[in-house]
Amino acid sequence: MKHVVVLGAGYAGVLTAIYLEKKLGSLEDISISLIDRNTYHTMRTEIHAAATGRMDPQSIAFPLEKIFARRKVRIITDTITEIDRTAKRITGTAGVYDYDYLVLAAGSKPCYFGIPGASENVFPLWTLDDAVRLKKQIETQFLKASETQVETQIETQAEKQRLLTFHVVGAGLTGVELAGELAEYARLLCARYSLPYGLVNIVMADALPRAVPNLPERLSDKVEKHLKDMGVSLVFSAKVIRVDDNAIVLEINGKQSSLPTGTVIWSAGIECADISQFMAKNVESCGRGRITQDGLLRSVADTAVYVAGDNMFYLPPGKKSPVPQMVENCEQSAKAVADNIAADVTGNGRTKQYKPSFHGVMISIGNDYAVAQIRMGPFKMSVPSPVANSMKRFINVMYLTEVLGISQVFHCIRHEFFTKRK
Ligand SMILES: Cc1cc2nc3c(=O)[nH]c(=O)nc-3n(C[C@H](O)[C@H](O)[C@H](O)COP(=O)(O)OP(=O)(O)OC[C@H]3O[C@@H](n4cnc5c(N)ncnc54)[C@H](O)[C@@H]3O)c2cc1C
Repeated sequence: MKHVVVLGAGYAGVLTAIYLEKKLGSLEDISISLIDRNTYHTMRTEIHAAATGRMDPQSIAFPLEKIFARRKVRIITDTITEIDRTAKRITGTAGVYDYDYLVLAAGSKPCYFGIPGASENVFPLWTLDDAVRLKKQIETQFLKASETQVETQIETQAEKQRLLTFHVVGAGLTGVELAGELAEYARLLCARYSLPYGLVNIVMADALPRAVPNLPERLSDKVEKHLKDMGVSLVFSAKVIRVDDNAIVLEINGKQSSLPTGTVIWSAGIECADISQFMAKNVESCGRGRITQDGLLRSVADTAVYVAGDNMFYLPPGKKSPVPQMVENCEQSAKAVADNIAADVTGNGRTKQYKPSFHGVMISIGNDYAVAQIRMGPFKMSVPSPVANSMKRFINVMYLTEVLGISQVFHCIRHEFFTKRK
């Protein structure tokens, strides 16, 4: 009996398990297990919408038992803490699991770069729990602002403004999407708590000089303009020095200022999950725990360990930067890993080099606006906002149809196209 163990049920892990089952599920002497600390798969790309009330958290969490109901994949709920490559065994808080092939797809976590006070005082935006916690914080701030009465009217006003100040640190894809949703949600909450919108201050700060630097400057300008029109203040070339309980210290042009704030939301960077970092200490790796692999998507140090999604470090031939930590790379690497394991197990077909081909970047800002840069062969082009917005939603529907099956497609369409803010 050969055991294939997939660690992590994010985009990369779930798809790897699905593709493996399609290829190997009919074989009696193969077992496929999928291990995650959670019982559900999170559609992480919509976390910001759940944190700001546009989507219900349940609508972006899919029970693994349901996804794999008719698939020959064993689902294990456990948090893995150790990988013993010599014994080919991984250990979790609930059990020990032997493998012949291990697929490491444990994803990422927020990175605070050792900035004092950050891990204690910010609200990260990575897991479903983060989204639920952030939504509660946002709503609580509006409630408190509506009830606040201090000594004088001036002091009351200042405290209300502090409570309703939100700093979003990081103007990459995640930060921009969150800031847009927050600007919309703030208007709803102002109406709910009878507060003037003028009290709300959403500030997006980044150490780099522009938003979403992986887009061309022209598209970054569009993103920035739209956010400003929504009432978001943008501060670039600003370094976070410290995060205190009620203030954030920024350094701009060499000058440090402590700015009163009610909430600091962290979308400034990610590093690999702890278990990937554990592995990275013992094998060749590069940059925040990403495992260097051999082109067949195996760790260069251990051919029994395959790596998919955010955990992989791979520089495609002729490219200057590694594959991006984005969903398209998860999807394509999952397929490649499954194909190569199946070829190795069965001896049918040949293992193949990973040759990803990415189709672009899409960013939604609030409910109705999006920018996209689409790649078609050697050409790159941007598309109008309504097209970009529909494409992003359509891609989500296609993804969920693949993962959950056609019977769930109507459920997805309802959430993607018809769940709108009032
Ligand atoms: C708000 C937001 C918006 C985004 N928008 C986009 C977008 O529009 N387009 C895009 O391409 N990308 C986007 N991304 C990035 C994208 O979500 C990631 O690239 C993707 O989730 C990575 O998938 P993965 O499968 O590698 O890891 P993950 O999705 O992080 O999944 C890893 C899984 O491993 C599990 N795990 C980790 N450690 C352990 C352990 N020790 N034991 C057991 N289980 C463990 C976790 O519970 C998790 O389920 C966005 C991310 C965020 C946060």
